[in-house]
Amino acid sequence: MMNKVYFARTPDYSLDTVYDSVKSILLYYGMDKMVSAEATILLKPNMLSRSVPDKAVTTHPAVVDAVMKALTEMGAKAENITIADSGGGPSNPALNAASYKTCGYTDVAVKYGAKVYTKYETVTVKTDGVMVKEFELLEPVVNSDIVINLAKFKTHVMTGMSAAVKNLFGCVPGLKKAEFHMRFPDKEPFSAMMVDLCQTVNPTLTIVDAVTGMEGDGPGSGNPVYLGMLVAGDNPYYTDLAVCNMMGFDPMHPPIMAQAINRGLVPDKLPQDCIRGDTDLYAKLENFALPHSYRIDFGDRVPRALRWATPTVEKFLAPKPKIKKAACIGCGKCHDICPGNAIKIVNKKAIIDYNKCIKCFCCHEMCPVKAIDVKRSIFFNI
Ligand code: SF4
Ligand code: SF4
Repeated sequence: MMNKVYFARTPDYSLDTVYDSVKSILLYYGMDKMVSAEATILLKPNMLSRSVPDKAVTTHPAVVDAVMKALTEMGAKAENITIADSGGGPSNPALNAASYKTCGYTDVAVKYGAKVYTKYETVTVKTDGVMVKEFELLEPVVNSDIVINLAKFKTHVMTGMSAAVKNLFGCVPGLKKAEFHMRFPDKEPFSAMMVDLCQTVNPTLTIVDAVTGMEGDGPGSGNPVYLGMLVAGDNPYYTDLAVCNMMGFDPMHPPIMAQAINRGLVPDKLPQDCIRGDTDLYAKLENFALPHSYRIDFGDRVPRALRWATPTVEKFLAPKPKIKKAACIGCGKCHDICPGNAIKIVNKKAIIDYNKCIKCFCCHEMCPVKAIDVKRSIFFNI
């Protein structure tokens, strides 16, 4: 692994522009030497929900299109390329096909003669992870020779940020993801599981779509923010560290990042000589909005003598999902995704039972009309 992070200035989503960036990335990481007519290739976009590209919730189809174009020019056969992801919520072939279509991936697959994966068959993979010893993964994740992780540059109300590593959660099919939220309701063990998953999937290359990213309460309900670049890396932890620094997080704060650093998978400071391509793009973003749930240095606000109680108090004051009744349309998507079975729909409005809520924010990710807020304790406003 080169452990370099490559920046490619990409002013807009026109295919020619994105293709130039993608081609420079693929050549830099030597993909032209890895690709062959026989190689099976998985393109794993971020298809969090059935969402049109302009909302910046999902990887833009132009990125998938440009990767497909470059790979086929490098000798890959389109029929050996599969686009696959599993968004949040229930899945079946019809729902999955509708998501690929809305996100723009079906049209890309048809254009080249590639496949979108709607079947959702799984393969169980043994792993020597810290939290998890086996994963049930989408079949093409396990059986493809090359996995190209096409992530999105987004904030995330639970994990702080979503880029290379978090994108791989979609390799776990449908509601199996909810089982992991139930098994690991706290974000630290959940994030340790995510690092186990990343080690297991071991993507060949990650390209993060940061032409338009998302700030605020991502990954589903934040605001699109223009950034004008692609960020790529052959090491997903190095790639995430660059994104983390650009967003303005302390690297030990997003729990997935902290796990990777503590395991020695990435240093806590990204050496400047790791940055390649349009190196001037690697800079902390001015006025970038972090999620409301972002846990600021709570411990620093508590008198030293009381710090032993911080984890308990912090848990009590943890941000919660809150339904905005006027905005709720009663669609039930939050109920369907909720791993804690904490949501009921009464008179066409969602109601949360906080005794059952594990604060995974899956409901917030899934709500199609931004009717679920992240409510923080007023303590954090002090
Ligand atoms: S109510 Fe929302 S945050 Fe709470 S467990 Fe259900 S999906 Fe997760
Ligand atoms: S809160 Fe959102 S997802 Fe839940 S029922 Fe209302 S509109 Fe649907």
